[in-house]
Amino acid sequence: MKGDKIWEAIKELFPGAQEGVPMARYTTFKIGGPAKYFVSIKSVDELQQALALALKHSLNYFMFGGGSNMLVADEGFDGMAIKIEMNAYSVADDTVVADAGVVTAILTRAAIDAGLTGFEWGIGVPGTIGGAVRGNAGAFGGEMKDVVESAEALVDGEVHTFSNAECKFRYRHSIFKENGGIVVGVTLKLKPDAERGGVKKMMEYLDKRNKTQPKGAASTGCIFKNYEFPPKVDQPLADAPFLETMRAKSVPEEFLTKKRISAGWLIEQVGMKGAKVGGAEVSAAHGNFIVNSGHATAADVRTLIVNSKEKVAGKFGIDLEEEIQYIGF
Ligand SMILES: Cc1cc2nc3c(=O)[nH]c(=O)nc-3n(C[C@H](O)[C@H](O)[C@H](O)COP(=O)(O)OP(=O)(O)OC[C@H]3O[C@@H](n4cnc5c(N)ncnc54)[C@H](O)[C@@H]3O)c2cc1C
Repeated sequence: MKGDKIWEAIKELFPGAQEGVPMARYTTFKIGGPAKYFVSIKSVDELQQALALALKHSLNYFMFGGGSNMLVADEGFDGMAIKIEMNAYSVADDTVVADAGVVTAILTRAAIDAGLTGFEWGIGVPGTIGGAVRGNAGAFGGEMKDVVESAEALVDGEVHTFSNAECKFRYRHSIFKENGGIVVGVTLKLKPDAERGGVKKMMEYLDKRNKTQPKGAASTGCIFKNYEFPPKVDQPLADAPFLETMRAKSVPEEFLTKKRISAGWLIEQVGMKGAKVGGAEVSAAHGNFIVNSGHATAADVRTLIVNSKEKVAGKFGIDLEEEIQYIGF
């Protein structure tokens, strides 16, 4: 907009920047109102410049990769959306080096084609490798923590290298959720696949996904983290009463042994599977997915989330925690 000093500064730095961009275009949920300003960045240098600009003008910003793990408010975002579009990668020996904006599935395929194993599970994880590192994405027993050798991230304006241990990976968590670091690159260490079974494994994983996840509908993957037993429950003395309560509520032994209860199962138990609000529906195929039938709003999705949380808390005394990130709420 003419006369908007911030917009003029953005345009000067990023001639391709846009105003009022509907985030629904950039999220797998196909939901989300307009970002006031929108820039795509193609290098660490550009990212640093965008962040410096935001700081200088006290401008709110958020950054994203594939938009496959977030819910953007219907009102949009009053600030700058920064899309990470650094897309270079290389594979040499057993090592894959990639920019944060590389699509995870592309990297999986490249690793398989190079005769490497250990990352086949990444084929069905939408979004970018930067987003996958931040959330320690995982599937079929594999997690980023098993394959990351190191990650480079921008923290307080400077690029730092984090070893695997320094990434502090745990279930759907990394240090970058704590320090706000923006992952700019990652190095994966894989293993040579003497049997060359990667393509077969990949196809099996895709097949399993097709059988257990809603097909063809827009979603943002699992809404909630599976419920992990609180640390004190790991102590033998604290275990007994907790397990007793869970058994009384018919929680399957399989979950009690793993000390992790499937969020999808909990949602199904409270009768939310198939529940609809507006254009949003808790998937009948997978209780932890909400699907957009085409005209869902973020408010519809939020209502389903709140209802699910309340019902699970009411019946099981368990507070489900969102895996997805809220933007603009
Ligand atoms: C159909 C479907 C299936 C899915 N299956 C799985 C699955 O099996 N396993 C799984 O773990 N996830 C799954 N997901 C969720 C999602 O794909 C992953 O969480 C993915 O890694 C998110 O990456 P992204 O680039 O899309 O992140 P975005 O949605 O773009 O961003 C998510 C969050 O990460 C932050 N972020 C993004 N990029 C970076 C970066 N470079 N540095 C720091 N922070 C960053 C954003 O600010 C935001 O807070 C699924 C999603 C869908 C839609």
